[in-house]
Amino acid sequence: MRVRSRLALVASLQFGLSSRFDCHVWALRAPGGAILIDAGSGWANDAVLENLEQAFGTRHVAAVLLTHSHPDHALGAASLRELTGCAVFSPAPARRLIEEGDEEGCGLAYARRLGVYPAELRMKPCPVAHAFAHGERFTVAGQAFQAIQVRGHSEDSFCLLTELDGMGTLFSGDVVFYGGLLGLINAPGSTMEGYRADLARLQGLNVEALLPGHGLFTLRGGQRHIDCALNELSRNFLPRMIGQGDLIF
Ligand SMILES: [Zn+2]
Repeated sequence: MRVRSRLALVASLQFGLSSRFDCHVWALRAPGGAILIDAGSGWANDAVLENLEQAFGTRHVAAVLLTHSHPDHALGAASLRELTGCAVFSPAPARRLIEEGDEEGCGLAYARRLGVYPAELRMKPCPVAHAFAHGERFTVAGQAFQAIQVRGHSEDSFCLLTELDGMGTLFSGDVVFYGGLLGLINAPGSTMEGYRADLARLQGLNVEALLPGHGLFTLRGGQRHIDCALNELSRNFLPRMIGQGDLIF
């Protein structure tokens, strides 16, 4: 699904683009080839690559950048790497989980016990070409990114800031969503403490396009949504969270 000339959504449960186990997988057409932000679950890689071909006329993937290690974002990395030869980039705190295929550590075993995923969905070990740290600036396929760690949804959650057609663009993973919703969930590693410590790192970024891992997105005024979440977090009550009354899975 082309969103702009250099931006497409190539997997998503909610837009019906791939399988029901997939987050939004964003594709960016960089000077050196297509970059995917997150990998999805791997349950429907054919659909992901088909969507990429429809959007950009190629199935070649230069790199996959993971926002965190949760199954709906990261499980597909190993098989996409096998299929396309892409380099996999991960947050530094997620590197061991991704490389070892740690189903307990990435939350797959826990979510499976809740009935979120079927027994057949497994995590394969995936070599990581580069693990980025908080504040790191790196360039992949000619596209520059800044990595911003924001704990709260998970210990290894990162947002990736880049520029697209002159617009500040934030791939926010499951950290912050359209409407200022936060991603606190009922799972190990998800804490308000993390949000209290790190969410302010998203202040003043002048984000135009806010592209989260689930739900709605916006190409204009994304910083307003982030500021809304920051404002809610400054009060003495729990902020609004994703999953409260809306269908995620
Ligand atoms: Zn997640």
